[in-house]
Amino acid sequence: AADKIDTIVSLSKRRGFVYPCSEIYGGQKAAWDYGPLGVELKENLKRQWWRYMVTSREDVVGIDSSVILASEVWQASGHVATFSDPLTECTSCHKRYRADHLEEAFEAKHGRVPESLAEVNCPNCGNKGQFTEPKNFSGLLSTHLGPTQDSGSIAYLRPETAQGIFTNFAQVQQTSRRKPPFGIAQMGKSFRNEITPGNFIFRTREFEQMEMEFFVKPGEDEQWQEYWMEQRWNWYTSLGLREENMRWFEHPKEKLSHYSKRTADIEYRFSFGGSEWGELEGVANRTDFDLSAHAEASGKDLSYFDQEAGERWTPYVIEPAAGVGRAMLAFMLDAYAEDEAPNAKGKLEKRVVMRLDPRLSPVKVAVLPLSRNPELSPKAKGLASALRQNWNIDFDDAGAIGKRYRRQDEIGTPFCVTVDFDTLDDNAVTVRERDTMKQERVSLDQIEGYLATRLIG
Ligand code: ATP
Repeated sequence: AADKIDTIVSLSKRRGFVYPCSEIYGGQKAAWDYGPLGVELKENLKRQWWRYMVTSREDVVGIDSSVILASEVWQASGHVATFSDPLTECTSCHKRYRADHLEEAFEAKHGRVPESLAEVNCPNCGNKGQFTEPKNFSGLLSTHLGPTQDSGSIAYLRPETAQGIFTNFAQVQQTSRRKPPFGIAQMGKSFRNEITPGNFIFRTREFEQMEMEFFVKPGEDEQWQEYWMEQRWNWYTSLGLREENMRWFEHPKEKLSHYSKRTADIEYRFSFGGSEWGELEGVANRTDFDLSAHAEASGKDLSYFDQEAGERWTPYVIEPAAGVGRAMLAFMLDAYAEDEAPNAKGKLEKRVVMRLDPRLSPVKVAVLPLSRNPELSPKAKGLASALRQNWNIDFDDAGAIGKRYRRQDEIGTPFCVTVDFDTLDDNAVTVRERDTMKQERVSLDQIEGYLATRLIG
């Protein structure tokens, strides 16, 4: 499975899903750019999340806050003081690590927590116990606003989208006339000064998050956390992620973040290098920590007056927090398959197929004239431009038809529509389905309806 990641990385580059960032200058370490197919897949994923979490529900609304918030926000939220990772360096090979990552890898291998880093071998050079005393290293990326670069002009790039939700809680609650239990969702870029970015788009310093803060009455928080855990699991499986590659990881009490009462992560079997499982998303009970901290620091009332009960309380918050890049990587890994398909002579050959849910597929339909021909091409082009009103369509008339099918299979296109010489007589086309490779003749006046029923969402 370790090579599966390499396969996805090279397919991504070759087909235009993800490119290394600034490659013409030799690249920017651990940063990636999304290409024409990648941006479609990523946007489809975000759209599905937004539908499921926001617009299909009456109890969740969305916002889009700034990336740079008032610095006080990060003081009050605890990020300036505690959002740091313990950094250590191997004194033999000078490779840097997060001490907690070294400990976790040791635990996974030996079934117990190491007494100290003296017991741990360097994953790079293999030397034992050569680590410097871990030092805290801030995970916040900062910049300066305005003409001066002193401590007064410092501004932080958000490490999570959640705080923009908490600072807007009272306004959103009032303007949208919602009462707890209700949620506020946001998607957008977040930034973290990760010590050990890597594993392709799994961990980068700039990344996108999809977060929702669900505000509930204290005492009802535990059941709502169960509810959201189930919802989030179902979101992934309903879009085709296989349950055998997913599991829950319950954070041990002593390792919970400063704001959390309970956190459970959905993990996916990413299978990078030494570790099999990696966090896909976290579902945390943030209690009333954030609203209370902002109320105290700002002097503004962020509590809620419960008319029915005649009492005032500060809502507890359940937060499902997902990463767009990680989700995209998981869906690609899960969908990637190799099977066999007949070639032009009817002989079975290996084919690569990305079995993505059609809702996620970057290209929904490929229109393929059987050959480059003055009669077929215009007909096929006309069909492509008609279908383009509804879907992202690829038009391809280069090379043998079998090769063109393979190109579409590899990027997960659910349907190929072939315009052939019979089309000129019977006004019908051949529709080929990606997974079964079954072909069906559909008349041109019905093709839109045919595709529409199969390309829902
Ligand atoms: P990790 O333990 O992997 O560093 P985390 O527990 O710090 O992750 P959260 O703060 O819970 O992550 O963030 C919520 C989600 O945001 C994660 O589940 C992940 O999908 C995504 N995420 C967090 N950090 C990164 C990153 N550096 N690169 C890409 N995605 C990230």
